[in-house]
Amino acid sequence: MPESSIPKEAAYQIINDELMLDGNPRLNLASFVTTWMEPECDKLMMASINKNYVDMDEYPITTELQAIVSMYLVGIVLIIYHFWIKQNRCVNMIAHLFNAPLGNGEAAVGVGTVGSSEAIMLAGLAFKRKWQNKMKQLGKPYDKPNIVTGANVQVCWEKFARYFEVELKEVKLSDGYYVMDPDKAVEMVDENTICVAAILGSTLNGEFEDVKRLNDLLVEKNKQTGWDTPIHVDAASGGFIAPFLYPELEWDFRLPLVKSINVSGHKYGLVYAGIGWAIWRNKEDLPDELIFHINYLGADQPTFTLNFSKGSSQVIAQYYQLIRLGHEGYTNIMENCQENAMVLKEGLELTGRFNIVSKDNGVPLVAFSLKDNSRHNEFEVSDMLRRFGWIVPAYTMPPDAQHVTVLRVVIREDFSRTLAERLVADIQKVLHELDSMPSRITEKLSVNVVEHHPGVVKKTAIEVQREITAAWRKMVADKKKTNGVC
Ligand SMILES: *Cc1c(COP(=O)(O)O)cnc(C)c1O
Repeated sequence: MPESSIPKEAAYQIINDELMLDGNPRLNLASFVTTWMEPECDKLMMASINKNYVDMDEYPITTELQAIVSMYLVGIVLIIYHFWIKQNRCVNMIAHLFNAPLGNGEAAVGVGTVGSSEAIMLAGLAFKRKWQNKMKQLGKPYDKPNIVTGANVQVCWEKFARYFEVELKEVKLSDGYYVMDPDKAVEMVDENTICVAAILGSTLNGEFEDVKRLNDLLVEKNKQTGWDTPIHVDAASGGFIAPFLYPELEWDFRLPLVKSINVSGHKYGLVYAGIGWAIWRNKEDLPDELIFHINYLGADQPTFTLNFSKGSSQVIAQYYQLIRLGHEGYTNIMENCQENAMVLKEGLELTGRFNIVSKDNGVPLVAFSLKDNSRHNEFEVSDMLRRFGWIVPAYTMPPDAQHVTVLRVVIREDFSRTLAERLVADIQKVLHELDSMPSRITEKLSVNVVEHHPGVVKKTAIEVQREITAAWRKMVADKKKTNGVC
């Protein structure tokens, strides 16, 4: 921290200049998170930027309350009340979207969070506590809870497992099958399993896991064993896709063992970063001892979140999107994303150079790998696309498919058909350029040579590294001669 202050214009200039170096978020095809909203919504968000969400969450309003506080307080409380109501309205709309079995006029059980990660921590805690209570009642040990997931889970599940001391039992993936196999998952379930977590829209390739089959198998297993292992659906990205594109697909509260669902409002809920939702099937699925009752201004307000204070703009924005777009608007946007994903997929297929690893009926994204990555790999394609401004991540799959590397392009609302076509053209340019470059000698290759020719002296890692660096230096120098410095 500097000793003295500087003028506000200078501070602004310094930071603004530095931020110019950031990539353009709209060209960041790595992320599911919303990068564009309507200007009307931007206005609403700016107008609520100085309002603390916790106030709306905690301040209840009752007729008695209104009678005892001053007019000034009534005014504040009314503003706050409106935010609080909006959160609950969002919870209700989303719970209905997920087919929660709610009676007429019955309020849904759920909460707004910072994102799916917080929602998953909360849902996981509810499962853990319910399971512990049950085991205590049965007089059985309750110190070794586990959760069954696919190895393709998002990192927040590993965080949950480590932070809250639950063993994560992962179903391994296999070549060509990159989601959790429900049969194998149910085999791994034991008495200490607090829940099986299925993903609607795997982060790696957008594929929907077969929640219906998981439910049916688990119903059967529960019947045989007398357990009542439940299911959580991590619908971070798919929760706002499936209801609009595949309304017949049964993945939500229509399945009896699905007890809670999370969704990221800031992914296909179409709100800027900072909002997620956790929805429970019934009141009974959220143990009461996890809910804190806060008495501000003399009335009871239940709360169940990890953080206390946070901004309220995102809740306002979610409410805006839900009422502005309605079923019709969300359906149109999701269909459009899906069509653009197809344009991109077909363009990539036409190059003849890629295998498509994503599925047509999942989250609108295209995951693809090189048919031949012996000379140049996916990481190089990703690196070179940055020069055109595109951010397209490359990553290896989790066990047992770690030998597969994929590139992934997430199609968001603001990714137009023109951009999809442009991206295909740029990928073609990159491929062309890579074809003319020397191959990076991979360590794997030289190790193979040694294995097959025992007489050859094994190169040390540093020697291999030097060789590669020299080859690239030479190539870059040669290019500079022809292209000139730009
Ligand atoms: C993005 C994602 C998460 C984490 O969600 P945040 O909203 O970023 O916290 C969890 N699970 C899946 C499947 C995701 O795609």
